Amino acid sequence: MVFYLVIGAGVIGLTTALELRAQYPGAEIVIAGKYLPGDAAPDYASNWGGANWFPASMDNGRQEKWDAITYNKFKKLASDRPESGVHAMKIRFHYERPIEELVGGLTPVEEGDLPPGAVVGYEMASFILDVQRYLPWLQMEAYSLGIEIHRRGFNDIRDTFESYPEASAVFNCTGLGSLKLGGVEDDKMFAARGQIMLVEGPKEPIPAMYFQAPHRDADATHIFPRGKNGGIILGGCRQKNNWDGEIDLNFAEVIKKKCCTIAPQLAKPEGLKILKHGVGLRPRREGGARIESEYFDQKLVIHNYGAGGTGFQASWGMAKEAVSFIRETARL
Ligand SMILES: Cc1cc2nc3c(=O)[nH]c(=O)nc-3n(C[C@H](O)[C@H](O)[C@H](O)COP(=O)(O)OP(=O)(O)OC[C@H]3O[C@@H](n4cnc5c(N)ncnc54)[C@H](O)[C@@H]3O)c2cc1C
Repeated sequence: MVFYLVIGAGVIGLTTALELRAQYPGAEIVIAGKYLPGDAAPDYASNWGGANWFPASMDNGRQEKWDAITYNKFKKLASDRPESGVHAMKIRFHYERPIEELVGGLTPVEEGDLPPGAVVGYEMASFILDVQRYLPWLQMEAYSLGIEIHRRGFNDIRDTFESYPEASAVFNCTGLGSLKLGGVEDDKMFAARGQIMLVEGPKEPIPAMYFQAPHRDADATHIFPRGKNGGIILGGCRQKNNWDGEIDLNFAEVIKKKCCTIAPQLAKPEGLKILKHGVGLRPRREGGARIESEYFDQKLVIHNYGAGGTGFQASWGMAKEAVSFIRETARL
């Protein structure tokens, strides 16, 4: 029986394993990762995702395709599998400087409706993911489809060949771990630090997600309501090359103030009931995510890491592309 090993149990590893199962129903599949859903280390990025789907791609190419595939998957999950924690919700986003035109499906926000500081804004139909439900759901889907999940840490990608000699391909979905993982040591990887807090939602649920940034690649403030009873995620920042996993309480005050200006339904910063603070490190990569195959002696490794700030919204598209390498390499 063909056997595939996926290392990494973040959103990318879990989704890759599920895509493998969909395309290879008879295969044996194991996911092996240092952190698993439920863990809260800063370098386990998936635990900290907002997470939303947002028109972030500017490449007119691969990223756009990954996002589009995932948008359609989220649409299906929101209607057929609401227990997954994926729900349809509008997103409204504002910029503090004019930006180049964005593509389709967007409704401009009237000038009088823009919050202080914003000069342009749009609204679109999107999806919110309650990550505290979505990651365990992915994990349970994997279990129920016969995928095993092992807790393992590897110092070197080649160690996987010894631990799992029967694997015919190893999928490397280790996110930031690929910077130090022996044999990979991808020095294009860097952390983009994000700080968030979870607050109790107001009595009247906020019906949309909000996002505001000075321009498209800048620190963004975001407000992501996690359903009627899941609280609201407030954030944040994207601090490049900042690996600090500690919470900056002064910055938390800045987030509170900014969020209350953007979404007045939150009322006053001092009235917010904070349930927890968090810091997560996005696995960013110069030049974008790496999805490609490589041989170590005779062993096939398929890399799928470096999703940066869009690992949820690109996950199903990235997984599809990574899995396609099995057939690609078989043809060579
Ligand atoms: C504050 C914040 C907000 C975000 N908001 C959004 C959003 O709204 N929408 C969106 O799409 N994305 C968002 N993201 C980005 C998203 O969270 C990441 O892109 C995504 O989680 C990356 O997933 P991953 O599986 O590649 O990495 P990770 O979740 O970091 O998982 C890596 C896995 O590899 C394992 N691993 C690493 N090294 C080794 C090793 N040597 N041996 C064994 N296992 C190893 C880890 O233990 C872990 O299981 C946000 C991120 C942050 C921090």
